Amino acid sequence: MIRLAAPTFSADTLARVQEVLQSGQLVQGQQVKALEERVASIVGTPHAIAVSNGTAALHIALLALGIGPGDCVIVPAYSWISTANVVVLCGAKVEFSDVCPVSGNMTPDSLQATLHQLAQDGRLASVKAIMPVHIFGAMADMAGLSRIAEAYRIPLIEDAACALGAVRDGVRAGAAGVMAGFSFHPRKITTTGEGGMVTTHSDAHAWTLKALRNHGMDPDAPTPSFVMPGFNYRLTEMQGALGVGEAQLLEERLAHRRRLAAHYSAAFAEMGLGTPDASVPDEYAHVYQAYVVRLPKAFQERRPEIIQALREGGVESTIGTWHMPLTAYFSRTFGYKVGDFLGADSIFASALALPLHESIHSDAADKVIANVRAVLERYG
Ligand SMILES: *Cc1c(COP(=O)(O)O)cnc(C)c1O
Repeated sequence: MIRLAAPTFSADTLARVQEVLQSGQLVQGQQVKALEERVASIVGTPHAIAVSNGTAALHIALLALGIGPGDCVIVPAYSWISTANVVVLCGAKVEFSDVCPVSGNMTPDSLQATLHQLAQDGRLASVKAIMPVHIFGAMADMAGLSRIAEAYRIPLIEDAACALGAVRDGVRAGAAGVMAGFSFHPRKITTTGEGGMVTTHSDAHAWTLKALRNHGMDPDAPTPSFVMPGFNYRLTEMQGALGVGEAQLLEERLAHRRRLAAHYSAAFAEMGLGTPDASVPDEYAHVYQAYVVRLPKAFQERRPEIIQALREGGVESTIGTWHMPLTAYFSRTFGYKVGDFLGADSIFASALALPLHESIHSDAADKVIANVRAVLERYG
């Protein structure tokens, strides 16, 4: 089976992990610090704070802004469910903004429309953050979103979980907002098993984030001083060592992913599929955390059968990600239905994620392409 993701680790990375295990220092030490420095340099922020996963990263980013009951946070309607869950877990209200049906990202137009609606409802003052997502590793238009956010004086937090290494309009993912959350889950390009990171330009936010991840302890105090309630959201040294080793391979892996994506897209466009490169302005804006094609209307209803047929041919595939307002909790609690978010409806119905990772070279790529062609012919 050609898997959607298949993490591999270099001998050097494995040796680093073994060294940690032999050292006896297992939590929040030199390896975690080295990973933080590495990510800060990739992203271009003075601070990177390692945490136990990407959801934890977004959670403490919101808390560091003081978001809580009575507040509202705008998120795109189409993302992994964490993006919305963390808002609810802070006690705040989620306001979904529709996404571009091609890219799956929040756009300046959709954000503006959401803000207009909130203003009409008299709820604008409650909006304390806007959290765009770089879905599948394709950067949202941060320049356009930032202009609007600045005009309304609302801070932007990037859900950059999928986008380590992406650059758009000269701005790197994770450096465009007041804070950004990254994930090192195995479905992401750089993995530590579980793991995450918050990046920020702000010294004050960095201090709060460090306290929140470590039981509310003052990160600068010479002896333990518990200055706020905090979590244990720390990363282990074993994970830190994995991340340091993996991050060294990032550029190489991104180049491989972009080459493979271009090869795929040439073939899939010919079959009449929508290809992900259609959604981003330049090649560095997309890191292809996931390679997601769009099925034409005629195939959409049969997507489950298509996924099953691809599996039988040895190719794993899946739907892209989730239409969050239509998931059980959000639709039941807030009454969202099909038609409320047309862009999210469209991409949620048509997306198909195909295998793309460092172990796929020309033979496996051609097998994926041949299988997709055969299945489309069968269901066409
Ligand atoms: C993976 C992901 C997350 C959550 O990261 P975890 O490390 O799995 O908690 C959040 N947002 C998006 C867009 C993601 O893809």
